[in-house]
Amino acid sequence: MPTIRQLSPSLINKIAAGEVIERPASVVKELLENSVDAGATSIELSIEGGGIDLIRISDNGCGIDEEQIPLAIASHATSKLETADDLFDVHTLGFRGEALASISEVSHLTLRTRTAETDAGSELSVRGGEATAIVPTGCPVGTIIEVRHLFFNTPVRRKFLRTPSTEAGHISEAFTRIALAFPEIQFTMRSGNRVQYELPATEHWKDRIRAFFGDEVADALMEVESIQDDASLRGYVADPSVSRSNNRMQYIFLNGRHIRDRSLQHALGEAYRGLLMVGRFPICFLRMNLSPQKVDVNVHPTKMEVRFQEGGKLYSQLLKTLRHQFLTTDLTARARHVP
Ligand code: ADP
Ligand code: MG
Repeated sequence: MPTIRQLSPSLINKIAAGEVIERPASVVKELLENSVDAGATSIELSIEGGGIDLIRISDNGCGIDEEQIPLAIASHATSKLETADDLFDVHTLGFRGEALASISEVSHLTLRTRTAETDAGSELSVRGGEATAIVPTGCPVGTIIEVRHLFFNTPVRRKFLRTPSTEAGHISEAFTRIALAFPEIQFTMRSGNRVQYELPATEHWKDRIRAFFGDEVADALMEVESIQDDASLRGYVADPSVSRSNNRMQYIFLNGRHIRDRSLQHALGEAYRGLLMVGRFPICFLRMNLSPQKVDVNVHPTKMEVRFQEGGKLYSQLLKTLRHQFLTTDLTARARHVP
């Protein structure tokens, strides 16, 4: 007869880590989200060896109180949720309290942090879930997290990693999604000793888009805006004369979170129907804001998929807004002006 056993907390964390932390880019996504949630106005990311050797993120956010540090790395521990009701009214990027626990279970993690209330910072290291004592350290207000030797104790995961340059590419994409969603935050990304992105804070979203995708894309963008009840849609769509051979340049952010949503992508395709050749995909940068009660973000561990209460309404709002834009724009004249 097989024996049923309760799994050890460490094994539970390793299994949970498998869900959230698939590759170095997942670590980057989680840590950047934490820095945004901490109210940082400046965030720096450095990676070495495609993030397999080192990921370092430093922010000037609120920091963590010394007594709270053990909880920050504990699983199911979060400052972002209190009651079950909060789960249906999420205003932060994180809420599961899983990321730091998962990451520290499968890497060597060092956390240095200081709040504005104290003069000295605190440092904690965790290796494969084993934490050292918290020691005082000098550091500015905010949080610095270093993650080394990712998956050192999960050889199977490690084997599935691609080359450092492929992993660095995934990290760039994770960084792009977050830096695009928050133009009011200053971001820097270094890979090895090369500065890959240096992005000053800006009030103009198009400046941030231009910094990532260059003049060809930025100059082809048309502004769109619509508000329907409590759903707002703002952003840019590209002139049909500038398109892509895949749908990867369709950035949709819902309440600050980058999402992939089949239905919205379909609405986009419908709006451009007849304007693009077969096999070409529109480019868009859209920010949607919806009352958090109307969307369930707790569908998927990485929260990239969400569930809408009124998906149909959103679909037609997007389609209508874009159709209206195309009907009221002289696209042929615009195309001639696109360099
Ligand atoms: P979640 O983000 O879902 O709450 P995490 O494991 O990512 O879970 O983080 C646990 C807690 O640690 C957060 O709720 C937050 O209070 C704290 N924390 C994590 N990163 C930072 C940071 N960069 N600055 C300040 N606090 C942080
Ligand atoms: Mg988090």
